[in-house]
Amino acid sequence: PAQSPLLEARDLVAGYGAIEVLHGVSLSVLPGSITVLLGSNGAGKTSLMRTLAGLMAPWRGSIRFDGESLDRLAAHERVGRGIALVPEGRMIFPHLTVEETLRVGAYGAWARPHFAESLARAYALFPRLAERRRQSAGALSGGEQQMLAIARALMARPRLILLDEPTLGLAPKMARFVFDLARELRSAGLTLLLAEQDVRMSLAIADQGYVLENGRIVMAGAAGDLAADPRIRTSYLGL
Ligand code: ATP
Repeated sequence: PAQSPLLEARDLVAGYGAIEVLHGVSLSVLPGSITVLLGSNGAGKTSLMRTLAGLMAPWRGSIRFDGESLDRLAAHERVGRGIALVPEGRMIFPHLTVEETLRVGAYGAWARPHFAESLARAYALFPRLAERRRQSAGALSGGEQQMLAIARALMARPRLILLDEPTLGLAPKMARFVFDLARELRSAGLTLLLAEQDVRMSLAIADQGYVLENGRIVMAGAAGDLAADPRIRTSYLGL
């Protein structure tokens, strides 16, 4: 039997004020997979991620997670169900230390009792953060701040991580680290939805992908098929 999706969005319509930016987006994410969301600047990736996380209320459509409707759940309740967003731009509080930032990530009632264990795991995954645990987050490099944003999301013990353009502005080596990490998290059983502009790298690690253009899904499929698709090769890979 076909595996049922962990996350399923149907016909999401959303916007800002009177301006509609998502015009009926549907997608599904299988458990234990990496799904990549491709699309150029302004395609609506961030709006979609924020809608899934409950930070933006859709005008129409529905979202289900693990068989349950999320439609009436606030953002913090979605975190409690196992959905963590790593926002574009990282949204790090510069004056908190690394460790204080991680404590914020474990704020929820379900995560707090596991704080020590989650912290040890985060530091094992990111030794750089362990070295800098007492430093203020604002003093970290861009790559380290991205690690911290991911580590903060993991502190909530999510089942699904929404990663919004995690490699934006990072040096190639650091971007590779992020992609390797995504694979590692998948191996550990997590499910990832990754919005990315690095089409080549993200299709290389993903299981499936969606292409968003002007607020609509225009292509979807297995990552390997998308990487070989002539439209992707000309429009997104410059081949
Ligand atoms: P980017 O790579 O630039 O983040 P994106 O694919 O994530 O692009 P969104 O940020 O979701 O796209 O933007 C989709 C559309 O919504 C764009 O036309 C953008 O100008 C518009 N938009 C985004 N945020 C707002 C806002 N706060 N108010 C009004 N319009 C917005």
